[in-house]
Amino acid sequence: MKVTDHIKKAKGETLFSFEIIPPVKGKSIQELYDNIDPLMEFEPPFIDVTTSREEYVYIDRDGLLDKKLTRMRPGTLGICASIKHKYDVDTVPHVLCGGFTKEETEYLLVDCHYLGIDNVMALRGDAMKEEKYFEPTKGGHRFASDLVRQIRDINRGNYLHEVIETDYCANFCVGVAGYPEKHMEAPSLKSDLKRLKEKVDLGADYVVTQMFFDNRKFFEFVDAAREMGITVPIIPGIKPIAVKRHLQLLPQVFRVDIPQDLVDAVEACKSNREVRQVGVEWCIQQSKELKKAGVPVLHFYSMGKSDNIKAIAQEIF
Ligand code: FAD
Repeated sequence: MKVTDHIKKAKGETLFSFEIIPPVKGKSIQELYDNIDPLMEFEPPFIDVTTSREEYVYIDRDGLLDKKLTRMRPGTLGICASIKHKYDVDTVPHVLCGGFTKEETEYLLVDCHYLGIDNVMALRGDAMKEEKYFEPTKGGHRFASDLVRQIRDINRGNYLHEVIETDYCANFCVGVAGYPEKHMEAPSLKSDLKRLKEKVDLGADYVVTQMFFDNRKFFEFVDAAREMGITVPIIPGIKPIAVKRHLQLLPQVFRVDIPQDLVDAVEACKSNREVRQVGVEWCIQQSKELKKAGVPVLHFYSMGKSDNIKAIAQEIF
C-alpha cells in the first residue's frame, strides 16, 4: 500500500515509522531483525531502508595500492523484500542517482514492482568521500528531480529507449527529501524550496525531512512550502542524539543546528548513557509537539538501534 494511502487511512492520526541501514556486508540480517522486533508493537505502516553510496578501498598488493570501488552496505532491496515478507509491513527502498546508471535504476524499479513494493524514496545521494561535490555517475542522473521524472515515466509505462510497449503500468508512490534548514549546497532556503517544488511537480507524492532539533524550523519550513504551493504530505524526520560526539558530527554531516539548551544538557552529561537519556527526552518533547500539530507521520532515524526509539515511541503512541 502507498505511504500516502496509509496517511489517508489514518484520518489525521499521527503514524509511527522509522528508517534502517543495511548491515555491513558479511554480517547477518538477524541484527536488523533484533532491532526491528521491539518497534513492531507501534505498528509502523512502512519502514525505510537506506542505500549507501559506493566508496573506494585500497588493497595492499606487495607494497602497491590497488584502488577498488565497492559498496560496503549493499542489499537494500533484498532487505526490503525480506522485511515485507517477515513482518507484513510496507517497505520503502531508497533509490539513489549516485552510483547508478539510468538502466540500473530501471531494473531496480522493475524488481520493486515484481516484489510488490509500492513506494520508493527518490534521492540524489551525497558526494562520495573523495569528492568535494556530487558528481553524477556516467549514464546516471544529476538531480533527484531527474530520478522522479524517470519513475513517473515508468508509472506511465514509458521505459528507457522505447524498446517495449506496455499497457500495464507500475504505480509507485514517490517520496523525496526536504530540508528545513536548507540543503548544504543550496544558495538559500527559498531556492532549495523551489527545487523541492520541482520534484513535487514532476510527481513526488510526499516529502520526508532531514533531521532537525528545533521544531520551529520544521513549522516554518512547512509554512514556506505551503506558500510555494507544495501541497503533498510533509513528514518530519527526527533523531535522538545518542553520544556526545553527535554534537559535532550531526552539524558537520547534515548541516543542522543544535539548540543551545540541548548542547548544554548533553555537555553536562558524565557518560554516554546519560547522553542517550537526554536525547530521548528531547525527542519526546519534539514528538509530542509535532503530534499535537497534526503531522501525518513521525519518522525516526534509528541508525540501526531501537532501544532509544522504543523509549520515545512508548511515550507518544
Ligand atoms: P536534490 O533534490 O537533487 O538536491 C540536491 C541539491 O541540488 C540541493 O541543494 C538542491 O537545491 C539542488 N538542486 C536540485 N535541483 C537542481 C537543479 N535543477 N539545478 C541546480 N540545483 C538543483 N543519502 C544516501 O546516500 N542514501 C540514503 O538512503 C539517503 N536517504 C535520505 C533520506 C532522507 C529523508 C534525507 C533527507 C536524505 C537522505 N540522504 C540519503 C541524503 C541525500 O542523498 C543528500 O542530502 C543529498 O546531498 C541530496 O539529495 P536530494 O535527493 O535532496 O537531492
